[in-house]
Amino acid sequence: MNQHSPAFCTIVPPHVLERLAESDDPAISEAARRTLLVDATQRTARAQGPAAPADAGPSDRPRRTVHDAGNRTELPGDRVRGEGDAAVRDATVNRAYAGLGATFDLFAKVYGHHSIDGAGMPLLASVHFDEKYDNAFWNGEQMVFGDGDGELFLDFTLPVDVIGHELAHGFTQHTADLAYYGQSGALNESVSDVFGSLVKQYALGQTAAQADWLIGAGLLGPAVDNGVALRSMKEPGTAYDDDVLGKDPQPATMADYVRTSSDNGGVHINSGIPNHAFYLLAVELGGNAWERAGQIWYDVMTGGTLTGEARFSEFARATVAAAKARYGDGEEMQAVLKAWTAVGVPAE
Ligand SMILES: [Zn+2]
Repeated sequence: MNQHSPAFCTIVPPHVLERLAESDDPAISEAARRTLLVDATQRTARAQGPAAPADAGPSDRPRRTVHDAGNRTELPGDRVRGEGDAAVRDATVNRAYAGLGATFDLFAKVYGHHSIDGAGMPLLASVHFDEKYDNAFWNGEQMVFGDGDGELFLDFTLPVDVIGHELAHGFTQHTADLAYYGQSGALNESVSDVFGSLVKQYALGQTAAQADWLIGAGLLGPAVDNGVALRSMKEPGTAYDDDVLGKDPQPATMADYVRTSSDNGGVHINSGIPNHAFYLLAVELGGNAWERAGQIWYDVMTGGTLTGEARFSEFARATVAAAKARYGDGEEMQAVLKAWTAVGVPAE
């Protein structure tokens, strides 16, 4: 397990923080530099969290624990809410607890996948990590949330899809284990956006037509004049266009594929292409996106045929095969083909 996947993934990609670190506003550049520094440290560190109880087996109930890091960088911090405990006074703690539960519910109730490893793995989260920390991450063992600097980014527990995105990296780590660079890395990022958005849609009971298809809506603070989220699956490249944040660099189709060596070969950039394919499929099929569209993506991730270095076209062909295997060669398979064709990825 876990030969390829990142043991560390942040929701705010490095290309955003690197730009902010160059800001003329010292408050902004300082928060961004500090976040990049802490990210670099955490990337090589390992959580010292409590070891997961062995052989607990799958369960229909999550086993959540939320810790308070107390604005320090030691993990996991003080245990403040365990499974079944009543809500506490700190809304951040309660949001993290609820977000872990919403993610568990999507995977368990819709796909019969118990926790992120499919075997009932306990879900751990630490909130109030560091001071003014502009990120949230999955470190291979647990979720960690910053409070944000309050100007550019708010509390990272606010968008439930951010929690779903990060935990879905754990799901990928335990299933298709897509290598975290180039196209397989962009697929890894995209799968986290897909399931992150599905966590939100399932929690809110929204159909594909009703959903906003944004990642990180509600996260951007008052210093961002023109931005709604970190990414848009509906219209990649339109989530923000702002003096401070810059412009959302995501392409929607292969015609605008970005060749870059930064960000592990643009894993948070070119993920816009498979993201948009999923969006097009979900809207074409209608109804709830987690049902047929989500099931096809889930089947690909857990089917055992995808290689760890899969490129977009291999993934696309796998979704066609998964649609055919589960639903026959009817409207689902045709909709999958149509979606990939629309973003310029060969699927046949
Ligand atoms: Zn990610």
